[in-house]
Amino acid sequence: IPALTRCPQVQRALLALTLPLEMLQEVKGRMMRAMSEGLSRQTHAQANVRMLPTYVCSTPDGTEKGNVLVAELCQSHVRILLMTLLGDGNQSPHMTDKIFDMPEDSMQGPGEALFDFIAQCVRQFLAGIPSPEERLPLGFVFPFSCKQTQLNKVGDGGVGGGLAGGCPHGEADDALALPPGQLFHVEVVALMNDTVGTMMTCSTRERPCEVALVTATWRGRTSKGTNSCFMAEALHVEMVEETHGRMCVNTEWGCFGDDDALNDILTPYDQRVDQESSNPGKKRFEKLVGSLYLGDIVWHTLVALAAEKVLFIGSNVAVLGTKGTLKTQQVLEIMDNEEGMAKARAALEALGLRPSERDCCRVQQICRAVVSRSAALCAAGLAAILSYIRHSRGLERLMINVAVDGELYRGHSRFGEILQSVTGLLAPECMATLVPSVDGTGRGAAIVTAVALRLVEQRREMDQLLAPLRLSRADLERVQALMRQEMELGLGQQTNASSSVRMLPTYVRGTPDGTERGEFLALDLGGTNFRVLVVRVAEDGIRMASEIYLIPTNVMQGTGKALFDHIIDCIMDFQLKQDLMEQVLPLGFTFSFPCQQLGLDKAVLLTWTKGFSASGCVGEDVVQLLREAAQRKEHSALKVVAVVNDTVGTMMSCGYDDPKCEIGLIVGTGTNACYMEEMRNVGTVEGEQGRMCINMEWGAFGDNGCLDHIFTDFDRLVDEKTINAGKQRFEKLISGMYLGEIVRYVLLALVEKQVLFRGKPCPRLQSRDIFKTKFLSTIELDGLALQQVQAILQDLELDASFEDSVLVQEVCQTVSLRAAQLCAAGLAAVVEKMRENRGLSQLAVTVGVDGTLYKVHPRFSQHLQKMLRELAPNCTVTFLQSEDGSGKGAALVAAVACRGAE
Ligand code: ADP
Ligand code: MG
Repeated sequence: IPALTRCPQVQRALLALTLPLEMLQEVKGRMMRAMSEGLSRQTHAQANVRMLPTYVCSTPDGTEKGNVLVAELCQSHVRILLMTLLGDGNQSPHMTDKIFDMPEDSMQGPGEALFDFIAQCVRQFLAGIPSPEERLPLGFVFPFSCKQTQLNKVGDGGVGGGLAGGCPHGEADDALALPPGQLFHVEVVALMNDTVGTMMTCSTRERPCEVALVTATWRGRTSKGTNSCFMAEALHVEMVEETHGRMCVNTEWGCFGDDDALNDILTPYDQRVDQESSNPGKKRFEKLVGSLYLGDIVWHTLVALAAEKVLFIGSNVAVLGTKGTLKTQQVLEIMDNEEGMAKARAALEALGLRPSERDCCRVQQICRAVVSRSAALCAAGLAAILSYIRHSRGLERLMINVAVDGELYRGHSRFGEILQSVTGLLAPECMATLVPSVDGTGRGAAIVTAVALRLVEQRREMDQLLAPLRLSRADLERVQALMRQEMELGLGQQTNASSSVRMLPTYVRGTPDGTERGEFLALDLGGTNFRVLVVRVAEDGIRMASEIYLIPTNVMQGTGKALFDHIIDCIMDFQLKQDLMEQVLPLGFTFSFPCQQLGLDKAVLLTWTKGFSASGCVGEDVVQLLREAAQRKEHSALKVVAVVNDTVGTMMSCGYDDPKCEIGLIVGTGTNACYMEEMRNVGTVEGEQGRMCINMEWGAFGDNGCLDHIFTDFDRLVDEKTINAGKQRFEKLISGMYLGEIVRYVLLALVEKQVLFRGKPCPRLQSRDIFKTKFLSTIELDGLALQQVQAILQDLELDASFEDSVLVQEVCQTVSLRAAQLCAAGLAAVVEKMRENRGLSQLAVTVGVDGTLYKVHPRFSQHLQKMLRELAPNCTVTFLQSEDGSGKGAALVAAVACRGAE
């Protein structure tokens, strides 16, 4: 900000042209609001700052390779350029170009004539080079405000400017491909605005550049304006459906202030510049910042001061002439510390004035004020973008590279200095490094095109790899039908052995009716923790107290005797602590391993799972093992009434609150379900009356090969590495123990195909279980900034760019979606069977659910419920999350049993 003179009139002019920091702060805030309006679906249409999506979703990562062609439309010529990228980080792209002067008629005539001419230039250019064999991708630089609908499509938008008479509304590639056949090997893959190219030329993998600022590019040579673009979170660009990753947004900020938002900073000189322009009231920001106008602003100021007789006293001020007298280039030269005074004198004398030393000095001050204001306003805009990015990415601090191009930035170092320092003052939490751009339009366009190609290729690879994990409606209907078939087989006495779904009877014949009362002990073995509980079921609800006990690995994997002795020790300790030694409480035992139940209190262990392998237990009744241990420990007050699977416990505990709850579902470490089946259908238990809860053990669904058609290579890899290969195949598609592993194998395949992490090998991903299922929950969280996904991946020592993060997110979503949908197919078979059993056209039923994956994953339950509605449209299924189903449920089974006994 120049020091003021003593002349009050000049002082006033300089002050009017000088914006205090608080004002700039205010301008920044208004710009941020204008940007938000442009991004929002509701306000986009009326917004001044239009925030146009460009469909450029990536910055170069240096692996771009191949030949790309660029057609750059300038005001009086067309430039065609061929660039060869070597995949070497775009260090030294090879480039040839040719300029074609545009005939008058194609500039002024109908749009087709222009595009015909461009197509002709492309043909001529190609004729002059050794013809490349392959299809050539073409990027088209169109320096006007376009509303894009895809990377290579412009819709009906504000296309105009220098193209008088007819503008290319519609698809640019159609126009370019005319006449058909002749340009058969050229394909328009990208259409872009010049700011985007500027951003791209400055961007490398090591130093991604995510903002570009152009102050006075030629902009069609009709308006040397200003514009900017930046990589926004796609989620916030509401005009496009895409919600993943980022997308470059062309701000078109030149129109900022067209709603009078800048009126309070406009000087009388700005008003005059505007009135004399071809578009009064429009492009208000551009007219303060853009280089086309700076000369005129200075000139109007001089005219006003001369009229007030404080400048050029004694000269004939009429020689000041009309607007356009002072060029921006002269303004920049006059600003100069050393040569400036001489330049001012020369410029003024050339007009026929006889300036005094003081005149020259004042003119210089005015030039500086106008250029400084331009830089400061640019800084306010940039600060708005930076703060916006910082906020939307949830960052405390932002480090970012900003590509800068344009006459003003290159023309005088002062502009850049002010831009840098004022941006720092207005956005102190952001560290912007300004990077000068070279040939942003041509070279940048080639890079945009190459990036677009890389993304197309990447998309193809992703889709190919993920396709087997994406199940169609028909696939799921088939799974549902197979589940139904296996259920029927499992229930039949003759066919039970041939089914992969065991359909184990539980001897639980009823769900709670709310009249249950009493005090019970409960054990919970087979979940993540071993617990002992006391449960009081009273009129006013259920109260519980519990204690977690550790089961050391050597006990889990030692002898059965030692394991059950340990359990009794824990019970005794618990009774002592709870002062329950004197009472003989009925005990419900949640034992979450597959058991053949012979009665409510008689359960023969079929196989250990989940890391247990205590000897002498498989084939034995676990209640008996517990009783024997009690005898050994001389604990006489033990009355085991029921053994319960955790699915049953879950159903029972939810059934206490909702009598419609007749299904139990677990989606945690493993997955399983139970439901109330008609006794007449249960061929494996005597009796025809009433119902019995069937523990499906559906995790084993498919172990007989019936699901082989949906297993992918990833599933096979996961299965092979487990301790129970070939077993629990359905569970291995769905539950928490495996989803992370599936994702890990998909990621490995993507690394192998060089789609992820720039094809760099990733030894860390080779370690089993490194990718936890809980990461899926975090990574898929709605609104989680990509930066955070990136941080999670970096914690795993994976060198992930934000694009890698987007891909990883997609992999996680695909894997968890499949899990939820398969679970839905299984449940659909269950509810449809229950509906048919009861001869109902509509069934309303509740599912009691437990398991961390179901409860914590942000999408699993939604996807499950949505798919279930589609697969079982005649069932209204409510989901009720169980609170401590294993403990409460075991007590309730005991209570229902005691109620029955009474
Ligand atoms: P269990 O099934 O052993 O009784 P849980 O229902 O708590 O216990 O499930 C634990 C399993 O849930 C873990 O093994 C893990 O795979 C998975 N898990 C843990 N945290 C999360 C999470 N945040 N999101 C999704 N799954 C999780
Ligand atoms: Mg559990």
